[in-house]
Amino acid sequence: MSAIRRAVFLDRDGTLNVKAPDGEYITSPAGLRLLPGAADAVRQLNEAGLFVAVVTNQRGIARGLLSLHAHAQIMTRLAVLLAQHGAHVDAAYACPHDTGTCDCRKPAPGLLLRAAGEHPDLDLRQSVIVGDAESDVEAGLRAGTWTIRLSAIPVGSRADHVARDLPAAASLVIGAQDSHGRDRLARVS
Ligand SMILES: [Mg+2]
Ligand SMILES: [Zn+2]
Repeated sequence: MSAIRRAVFLDRDGTLNVKAPDGEYITSPAGLRLLPGAADAVRQLNEAGLFVAVVTNQRGIARGLLSLHAHAQIMTRLAVLLAQHGAHVDAAYACPHDTGTCDCRKPAPGLLLRAAGEHPDLDLRQSVIVGDAESDVEAGLRAGTWTIRLSAIPVGSRADHVARDLPAAASLVIGAQDSHGRDRLARVS
């Protein structure tokens, strides 16, 4: 039996929760509001046996707009809101750095590679990233995962799939797992 696990890497802002306006950041727990259906989608991913990890750019930390402590409180709030729907994330990774100063700010793949390093049972090639920005897709491509771009409207993307929201993406991921068994999650169409 293989102990390999598939991960679903979830972007945070705009994927799990309502994004702050352009140029602004979520700076307090009260500012975090889940998108419709997001928590139930995470619960379904949990129930499917997938390893769910949040991967989020938080450049506002580098810019002094929120502290690491505030960021931790926001992530705790996220966990509480998910738990109200019986959902959880298995891990969370944030890039607190400014643009061009690190190897983990998406579109760089560092957050995904760190997750794989800390959890050797994860197979990136059988994993998927879901996000509302092309930088999420790019991070997944560089890390070797399958990719799903979230967009409610038609969008040009290098992603393997475009889904309208996280519930639709979760259905796609879980459906792929069902139909392919131990095969790669990827490249169903
Ligand atoms: Mg986003
Ligand atoms: Zn970084």
